[in-house]
Amino acid sequence: MTNKDVGTPSLLNRLVSLTTIRDIELFELSLLKTLAELLKVNQISMYKLNPDNKTCWLSAYSAKLIEDGNKRQLSESQEIYTSEIIIPDEIRSAQLWVETTKKPYIHLQSEKFLVIYPVLAASKIESMLTFELPHMLTEGEMLIITSLLSITHNFRSLLDESQKDKLTGLLNRQTFEANINKISSLILNAELGRYQDTSNRNRRRPKTGTEKFCLAIIDIDNFKSINDKFGHVMGDEVLLLLSYVMKQNFRSKDLLFRFGGEEFVVIFHAPDQADAYQILERFRTKIETYRFPQINTITVSIGATLISGMCHLASEILGRADQALYYAKHNGKNQLHFHEILLESGCIEDNKESGSIDFF
Ligand code: GH3
Ligand code: MG
Ligand code: MG
Repeated sequence: MTNKDVGTPSLLNRLVSLTTIRDIELFELSLLKTLAELLKVNQISMYKLNPDNKTCWLSAYSAKLIEDGNKRQLSESQEIYTSEIIIPDEIRSAQLWVETTKKPYIHLQSEKFLVIYPVLAASKIESMLTFELPHMLTEGEMLIITSLLSITHNFRSLLDESQKDKLTGLLNRQTFEANINKISSLILNAELGRYQDTSNRNRRRPKTGTEKFCLAIIDIDNFKSINDKFGHVMGDEVLLLLSYVMKQNFRSKDLLFRFGGEEFVVIFHAPDQADAYQILERFRTKIETYRFPQINTITVSIGATLISGMCHLASEILGRADQALYYAKHNGKNQLHFHEILLESGCIEDNKESGSIDFF
């Protein structure tokens, strides 16, 4: 392949369309597609390393490669999917190689070159990008990859900054509606059976057969008195530490928001209500037993609801969780309640307008 094959106008056009995307996950998948097309490789994968350094999220793009004489072309057929896996040994070796040499990992195996590039975030390896080539990388191709990755790095930092809460680094409230709409349509699509689509276009493979999520509002109990007793700076410290415990308790793909003040929202994948209950109860206990410097202990009240295909409006989902939170606050605080359980046991009536959260 020559530099001409991966010409600049086409790269620029692709960059323009890439940087119009505001959704980080979509952006990453489009980056894979762009790289596959520019380098004319039939499969390209990204291993996003989880903080546990044991598991990673694999996103892959593949298309059929048509060899027509000297020309290599990608066919229309394509597949994009994501799933969580144990970090493969090859990726581990590459990670070690990159960390020590600061160079991409290129390895000849079965007459093909395996290429693994690091994707950095805040000077740490966040992901590993891998693909195979029938030849050694040309200088032109290296330039394409490094330019795209450095633009990706800068663009991602900008996206991150605009979507995150400044104090805690969690997602901010402005990003909530887009995120919950994405989850609602994921559930709706799963229910409509679109995953069984036989055309194979843009197919995503969910980790489990069903898509079930839980949304919970977490509100610190008596936070005003913490501020009053220990001052605003110590109050901020509590918010920071609580968000730190949240990040540890939930998984990297769960969505954690600071909704405002001392209110947090979490959306996570849960096979059923019992599972969701256990995850949230574990978090409530963790906070109850966590020792905060000077302040000692705090507690949280949690209102939760399951996100089902029957309930799509963001305000409706939030309203249900908020009603359960309201119940927790008025029945002694430091407790977890599910809207569905309260409703079933007759403790509350279905009232979409209750609660303290201001809807959109
Ligand atoms: P409840 O148990 O009913 O939730 O009572 P509460 O005191 O936690 O709730 P309330 O809504 O009465 O007070 C929330 C307080 O949170 C009031 C406000 O000053 C404080 N707050 C809001 N944002 C911040 C912040 O960014 N930093 C600090 N330190 N305090 C904040
Ligand atoms: Mg509170
Ligand atoms: Mg509050």
